[in-house]
Amino acid sequence: LDAIQSALEGQSRDRDVDAGDVHLHVDIEPLTTDQGTVGVMEVGLSDDDARDTLRSFLLILALAYPLALIAATGGGIFLASRALSPIDRLTRVARKITAEDLSQRLDLRLPDDEVGRLAQTFDEMIARLDESFRRQRQFTADASHELRTPLTALKGQAEVALQRDRDIEGYKEVLTAVNAEVDRMIRLVASLLNLARADSGEIPITREPVDLGRVITDAAEQLRPAAEAKNLTLRLQSGPDVTLAGDQDLLLQLVLNLVDNAIKYTPSGGAVDVTWSADGRAAEIRVSDTGPGIAAEHLPRIFDRFYRIDKARSRDGGGSGLGLSISRWIAETHGGSIDVTSEPDRGTTFVVHLPSA
Ligand code: ADP
Repeated sequence: LDAIQSALEGQSRDRDVDAGDVHLHVDIEPLTTDQGTVGVMEVGLSDDDARDTLRSFLLILALAYPLALIAATGGGIFLASRALSPIDRLTRVARKITAEDLSQRLDLRLPDDEVGRLAQTFDEMIARLDESFRRQRQFTADASHELRTPLTALKGQAEVALQRDRDIEGYKEVLTAVNAEVDRMIRLVASLLNLARADSGEIPITREPVDLGRVITDAAEQLRPAAEAKNLTLRLQSGPDVTLAGDQDLLLQLVLNLVDNAIKYTPSGGAVDVTWSADGRAAEIRVSDTGPGIAAEHLPRIFDRFYRIDKARSRDGGGSGLGLSISRWIAETHGGSIDVTSEPDRGTTFVVHLPSA
């Protein structure tokens, strides 16, 4: 009644009414005309409908949520396993590739996505490992072979010497031959050691100012007696003053190797020319000879380790086929390069480029 009273006084009122098991939400509104409030209107709405709607909504949620969860989980598992299956394949194949069998590749032919690129990178890495293992095996095989040859020669000489008693001169002769062979082995082992240490980055390269002209002159003068003994003309043409940041001993060895080769392979009566020049950024050393030259098919390989064109002749001259590979390493480790041009029967020119300080 209170509510009706206040509605009559022009105010809206709300109230909840429980009628049996029906719960009504009642709104009481004043009916107002020009003459003022003439009555009230009472409207009641059962909230059962809202409750029914909420209940069905709850039911839908209770059923749909687990279903959606199951579908999402299943879909997730399916998608993840599809995305990861190439990785699984990659793992299985990768497991089969061992250090002994690096010739295998994953070769998975996957699309160019993240996993495809991973497989591709993996294959490239295996290829590089394969190449480096192959070179190492080759190096070991070549080195053993190179060491076995002088050892066999030594053994032969010792056996011949021991077959019968000899006079002092006879023994001296054998010992001289043995001495020469041992010298060759010492040079070979030193070169091998150098290369092995260079490979593992163990050789400390000093970077001190080096007077290039001095180094080239020293090398040429050290080898002048050998050139004269072979009746070769060794011409040294001085170039400008050049200072390099580098390792003096290694640079000397580089020039010695090139001039020594030129003298070794040029027949007597020929000439060896050594020059150097420089522009602002780089120095160039040239060692040319009038020797037999190098046929085009050998040119790309002469810097390979143990590569000799005429094995028998090189051996007599004491070459092991390592000189040029060491020279190339020295040039490259100084940030430079080494190139060769040659004309068979006319001569050979080695050109070394080194960045100047
Ligand atoms: P080696 O110790 O046999 O001289 P190198 O690595 O110094 O080995 O040279 C490799 C090969 O290149 C040599 O065996 C030789 O056949 C060839 N060679 C190098 N320099 C010359 C040259 N100036 N003239 C002709 N052939 C050369």
